[in-house]
Amino acid sequence: MNYSQRVIKQLQERYKDESEFIQAASEILTTIQPALDAHPEYERAGLVERLVEPERIIIFRVPWVDDEGKVQVNRGYRVQFNSALGPYKGGIRLHPSVNLSILKFLGLEQTLKNSLTTLPMGGAKGGSDFDPKGKSDSEVMRFCQSFMAELVRHIGPDTDVPAGDIGTGAREIGYLFGAYKKFTNKWQSVLTGKGLSYGGSLARTEATGFGAVYFLENMLHQKNEDIKGKTIAISGAGNVAQYAVKKAEELGAHVVTVSDSNGYVYDPNGVDFDALVQIKQVERGRIKEYVKDHRDAQYHENERPWGEKCDIAMPCATQNELDLDDARKLVANGAKYVVEGANMPTTTDATEYLQKNGVFFAPGKAANAGGVATSGLEMSQNHEHLSWSFEEVDDKLHDIMNNIYKSAWDAAKQYGHEGDLVFGANIAGFLKVADAMMAQGIC
Ligand code: GLU
Repeated sequence: MNYSQRVIKQLQERYKDESEFIQAASEILTTIQPALDAHPEYERAGLVERLVEPERIIIFRVPWVDDEGKVQVNRGYRVQFNSALGPYKGGIRLHPSVNLSILKFLGLEQTLKNSLTTLPMGGAKGGSDFDPKGKSDSEVMRFCQSFMAELVRHIGPDTDVPAGDIGTGAREIGYLFGAYKKFTNKWQSVLTGKGLSYGGSLARTEATGFGAVYFLENMLHQKNEDIKGKTIAISGAGNVAQYAVKKAEELGAHVVTVSDSNGYVYDPNGVDFDALVQIKQVERGRIKEYVKDHRDAQYHENERPWGEKCDIAMPCATQNELDLDDARKLVANGAKYVVEGANMPTTTDATEYLQKNGVFFAPGKAANAGGVATSGLEMSQNHEHLSWSFEEVDDKLHDIMNNIYKSAWDAAKQYGHEGDLVFGANIAGFLKVADAMMAQGIC
């Protein structure tokens, strides 16, 4: 058994119930073994055992009063995974599925993702099993205030800087920021994804979706292809999906699907970005409403979009939303590229199947890093008390995505796995964290 296999075994024994965390950790550890072979000093320093164990986990009660005057209690979490490269950084997920296993998988992914951006950010993730869906604005506000009442003692501009994720958008970040400011009497760069009127960065809202499409363009150029005229199936209808649709269509692609947890919409005329924004951002509605005003579009209840014919699939919803069956359908229908806009949307066996069948595959930690990268740019602007133009931020985002692509491609090639971006992204992200951890001693 090699070093990474031994650590995977320890994790399986110690964290039996944490299936998502084991899935993510195993995927990462399996692929970094060649780097471990090249650096025997890592094992002597217990580096991988330390990497997979979060530096700190905070779990807390979040009590709040609903509109009927009834007391509700949710569970809040912050997993401060790794601070070797900078203050902890990562989103807050508000969704009923949230548990420690999911947040640990996301925190570990975030650590390597943030490393790939080359910006000085450690990795973290947090959240709660609170479901903002169907709640009034005042209920969401009271929840956020209660959540921050505990979180405030664990975060800070040089300690931990949370942001949005599933269920946490501009509204929630605003309430969290207001509460932080009230508790501390300090206006600090302690959250990213803020509104433009109070320190947010232009292009942060667009960044994850735009960044994923910039990453895809790198992949296409590698194969001497162009995005123009390509058919793309996208899943999700939230922030990532919306701006992936927008950028892909702007560049001449034909996006035919979007989805939510109830089903998906197929629009042969190309997904209407403005309608999507109206339904999701303004009305906070469900995606099935799309077909009311789009006569050629069809809604498929309880189905995922992966059976539709496309050149490129971009899963932008949530973890494990593209399984082996879906992968088989994509390959059978001639898909050539899969780009993860969400975090770990493709199951491990589906990823392997896609790669074996000649699909060029981009893992989320590389392809969706544009969001957190732009959070890093928001922090820079806050710290210099300036705000940059949309074009300036977008250009920097574009450069960062090109660089992530290049480092993943080069690392894969250097270690004899040319073309395997899963491998390359894991190795490139890992090596920088490893180097910083080695330099900082056993801590
Ligand atoms: N939640 C996003 C992610 O998965 C963004 C995190 C951030 O901006 O800190 O990367």
